[in-house]
Amino acid sequence: MSVSFDIQPNPGARSDAEVAEILASPGFGVYFTDHMVSITWTKGQGWHSATVKPYGPLTLDPSAAVLHYGQEIFEGMKAYRHADGSVHLFRPNMNAARFNRSAARMMLPNLPEELFVEAVRQLVQIDARYVPEAAGEHSLYIRPFMIASEAFLGVRAAEEVTFLVIASPVGPYFTEGVKGVDIWITDEWARAGEGGTGNAKCGGNYAASLIAQYEGYEHGCTQVMFIEATGKDRVEELGGMNVFLVSADNELVTPALSGTILDGITRDSILKVGEQQGLTPVERRLSAQEVLDGIADGTFTEAFCCGTAAVISPIAGFKSKKGEWRPQGQAFERTIQIRDGVLDIQYGRAEDSFGWLD
Ligand code: PMP
Repeated sequence: MSVSFDIQPNPGARSDAEVAEILASPGFGVYFTDHMVSITWTKGQGWHSATVKPYGPLTLDPSAAVLHYGQEIFEGMKAYRHADGSVHLFRPNMNAARFNRSAARMMLPNLPEELFVEAVRQLVQIDARYVPEAAGEHSLYIRPFMIASEAFLGVRAAEEVTFLVIASPVGPYFTEGVKGVDIWITDEWARAGEGGTGNAKCGGNYAASLIAQYEGYEHGCTQVMFIEATGKDRVEELGGMNVFLVSADNELVTPALSGTILDGITRDSILKVGEQQGLTPVERRLSAQEVLDGIADGTFTEAFCCGTAAVISPIAGFKSKKGEWRPQGQAFERTIQIRDGVLDIQYGRAEDSFGWLD
């Protein structure tokens, strides 16, 4: 497919000194680079008007469908700087493919995978000075998203859609670092149900998760873990991360893809890196009771959560209205080994034996 990009450099781009100041303390998702990519889709015409332009506010009609019915999807990925100065994406085709699965669920148009990846590359290239040095988990977080931009208040699939890519230099997502986070298990709120949108990366899922997230904060927890909606006691995932348990006999266990959870790219990578490290990857149904009993009796020695933004974070404990459970392996030995295995590939410190870097 040949869509050529109109490149419009930002005359108000930050100076190198300003960029350096941001990179010294980027936070997470606070600062954005000088440019963004925008591509329009119109029914009957397809994708057109691919532009790299100055980062700035969008002009949207107040009746734009996305503002009313939430017809929207997004992705989250990162660009990593290696010690030799080169910049790499990690498995970008997985994001492109997932984006299209989300698009199909939300009645948004398919975006050819190569156009998705090319748009991301264009932005990373023009704003490469925002990709931090590899120190301390820093990277450039990239947010591709697609919105129903058509000005129309009827409830139907939009006939004009905008695809955008923005990027933000970031440091670690959790200030706790590898000390471990506490996870609240909510028995009140559900994130998704069968036939719903749980395996699509659409904004509504995140809006729906906030109330449980805040319930977790009230109990001193950093994140919340959701259980399947129909009371079947099936462990799903966290608000923005997948979850894993490590067993005493070296199984690496994570909930199977049920259609109600997001198929994380970090999740998939961990299953493969873990296996390479001698663990047995297991994707199966897990009940919350089994997890908590297994932690109490030492069957599960470690737990961790994972995603592009938060990488891999050890879970120090689970809390619910019924009590508190702390895995015995509080040194997080296996978790840190897996975490290093994934990070070493992403930052080019280990051989890319799976061919994951772009
Ligand atoms: N689950 C949810 C709900 C998420 O938002 C994310 C982050 N995209 C993940 C899991 C982890 O996915 P990934 O490893 O692809 O970032």
